[in-house]
Amino acid sequence: MTIVPARHTTPDLLIIGGGIHGCAAALFAAKRGMSVTVIEKDSVARHASGVNAGGVRRLGRDFAEVPISVRSMQIWHDIPDLLGEDCGFQIAPQIKLAENEDELASLRKRADDLAMLGFEHEVVLDRSRVRELLPAVADHVVGGLACLDDGFAQPFWTTTAFRRKAEHLGAVFVEGVRAERLVREAGDWIVATSAGSYRAPKVLISCGAWSGILAAQLDEPVPVHAIAPLMLVTSRLPAFCNAVVGATGRPLSFKQMPNGTVVIGGGRRGIAEPASNRSEILFSQLRLTADTAISLFPIMASATIIRTWSGIEGCMPDEIPVIGASRKHEGIFYSFGYSAHGFQLGPAVGELMAELASTGSTQTDLSKFSIDRFPSNQCQ
Ligand SMILES: Cc1cc2nc3c(=O)[nH]c(=O)nc-3n(C[C@H](O)[C@H](O)[C@H](O)COP(=O)(O)OP(=O)(O)OC[C@H]3O[C@@H](n4cnc5c(N)ncnc54)[C@H](O)[C@@H]3O)c2cc1C
Repeated sequence: MTIVPARHTTPDLLIIGGGIHGCAAALFAAKRGMSVTVIEKDSVARHASGVNAGGVRRLGRDFAEVPISVRSMQIWHDIPDLLGEDCGFQIAPQIKLAENEDELASLRKRADDLAMLGFEHEVVLDRSRVRELLPAVADHVVGGLACLDDGFAQPFWTTTAFRRKAEHLGAVFVEGVRAERLVREAGDWIVATSAGSYRAPKVLISCGAWSGILAAQLDEPVPVHAIAPLMLVTSRLPAFCNAVVGATGRPLSFKQMPNGTVVIGGGRRGIAEPASNRSEILFSQLRLTADTAISLFPIMASATIIRTWSGIEGCMPDEIPVIGASRKHEGIFYSFGYSAHGFQLGPAVGELMAELASTGSTQTDLSKFSIDRFPSNQCQ
């Protein structure tokens, strides 16, 4: 077996996958003084982490994710200090609109439930407050729920900025190298790849939609599947929206960028083909996305779509990720399955994975994110 000569032939931590989660973990592990190598089968930020909608939101998170999301937001607010680049991060309200009184009641209940857990970052907006924040919103909207200091960023820029900073601290990134098999040998993991083998005592599997392949080989099968969220962007419009807007009863993520273009997505999906790295746009689904945008912002009826795209993302049946140490193997860690909302979580989970890999434990409760939370019949 050939051991590939890298700057650290046996790094303390080998990270498989160069998305936001692999790059953030590399940075925080390097900050802790660990030697780190990241291998990436394509190029860093090639998949979900480079093409997502850039939404940086705590709003509407599964309650299990809230503490990590809150920590991540603190890091986002200091991102220029951490990375030396602002990554296009901009504070902007994230607002989920209610289109009828039932939806508004469900948003009120959510805010109350979250407050009972000690979190006050989601606030209910009445009809007039929504219009103060979103003067162009449709007449039928009755209120909303908001995190006023959430925001958005540029995904490719952010992910590669984490990479650059990690490299500056000594991490080694190797692109075009696919991890194929992991074998335990004399207290280390030997990772056979498409270009020789790597050796490390600790390995983080952060392979997005492809993570299930390696987890299954390690006898930890997990029902992660690939999805292809759809996005579109319009030509420039006069400034009319300073918030990132979602809807309560239908999929939507809507934001006007500083240059006037409007980026719209929010959950409708195309067809993911992870084996070939491809995803297919479904124009019938994009049409529904456009219809939703027009019905909530009538000004959008005059917009022209200039580009559409999609990306491949790992999704779990319960739509929260797998985060934590392997249940079966010393030195193996997992971080994947972010189910279309993992960009915002990247910084805090990277910090967490670095803590776990370097100390073996963390104070953060990760029980809800365990790899073995699904019955075996869901894992086939
Ligand atoms: C269109 C779209 C819009 C989205 N919008 C938002 C949003 O607004 N806000 C938000 O928070 N989240 C959003 N997301 C989700 C977010 O992008 C993802 O949750 C996040 O990027 C996942 O990061 P990751 O590092 O886990 O995975 P990825 O970015 O997929 O990175 C994993 C990497 O692992 C590599 N890899 C896989 N297998 C191997 C192997 N065997 N060997 C070596 N390398 C391997 C892959 O090539 C890939 O580059 C969106 C996603 C998409 C697709």
